[in-house]
Amino acid sequence: MFKKPKGLAILGSTGSIGTQTLDVVRAFPGEFKVVALAAGRNVDLLAQQAQEFSPTLVSCGEHELPVELRGKIATLEEMATHPSVDIVVVGIPGLAALSPTLAALRTGKRVALASKEVLVVAGEIAMTTARAHGATILPLDSEHNALWQCLRGEEHREVRRLVLTASGGPFRTRPAAELAQVTPEEALAHPTWRMGPKVTIDSATLMNKGFEVLEAHWLYDLPYEAISVVVHPQSIVHSLVEFVDGSQKAQLSHPDMRMPIQYALTYPQRRLNPALPLLDLTTAGALTFEPLDTARFPCFRLAREAAAQGNTYPAALNAADEVAVELFLARKVRFTDIPRLVEGALQEHKPVSHPALDDLLAADGWSRKWVRSQALVSS
Ligand code: MG
Repeated sequence: MFKKPKGLAILGSTGSIGTQTLDVVRAFPGEFKVVALAAGRNVDLLAQQAQEFSPTLVSCGEHELPVELRGKIATLEEMATHPSVDIVVVGIPGLAALSPTLAALRTGKRVALASKEVLVVAGEIAMTTARAHGATILPLDSEHNALWQCLRGEEHREVRRLVLTASGGPFRTRPAAELAQVTPEEALAHPTWRMGPKVTIDSATLMNKGFEVLEAHWLYDLPYEAISVVVHPQSIVHSLVEFVDGSQKAQLSHPDMRMPIQYALTYPQRRLNPALPLLDLTTAGALTFEPLDTARFPCFRLAREAAAQGNTYPAALNAADEVAVELFLARKVRFTDIPRLVEGALQEHKPVSHPALDDLLAADGWSRKWVRSQALVSS
């Protein structure tokens, strides 16, 4: 029987999520039609992708595109709402993901969401918009994708707790006193996952895990007290759900982002993809679990505090972290300055209650400016 291919818009097509999404698309010829490709700055790779997938729309920020692509230039919002698009894959780092995600949700699309900033900053608005327009958020973040799989067929009222696993990042066993000396190169060497630079640094500070607590709260409508974290350095168990009877379900696989991406793209089906590595527990080695050392990773505590305060605090948190990470990667501040700057921004922040989108963006702008001004003072 002839089935119409699913139309995809891939925002962040040359990044880690985008290239792995295209790998999944290649594994299922004829099943997906790439309608739109948006890159950040890698014009050459975008041009190659456009040659291979013949999208209707392309974009590459402010960068100049080859002549043959210029007639196809569109905004991220146009791509996210295009009538031929069924699934919008959002894999652009930072708050730039917010506006196209909301546009897609308003148009009732399925949004395969990797950019956790959207839910961290505007979780309530995103979920309300999705409900109002019959849109769905399909989480690509491996932990949330795992929770989605564990929750399938289960009743929300029978869930007691979500348990997010954390690899612990590259500094899990590094003495706290040495963390000030950490270089961007060391922080970018993640032990188990291949990801973009922003999320890799966030994984090293454990801010990423704090963001994921907020993300899980919005996606699965559970209070923060019902979301916990366990360190699991092997990244084989991607997360767990505990039910009221004490039973726990976990999802396991090799740490390969193509698995959660494929699950979201082919949902509700599970499909064979011979390119994906199979897990053999008899050879995988020991799977270990330990508590998270929150004293060594203050970013995790700061994220939980901002989450508990709510309102515009998570927006201030996210923006402060984004700028602090940028400054660290540019060698303008130390690794341990990241939590220091974020904490300062949260202390100085004047929150707005029941924030609208404009209030969140204002908090974001204020927080960025504040962190930049502090970094100038201290350098
Ligand atoms: Mg994750």
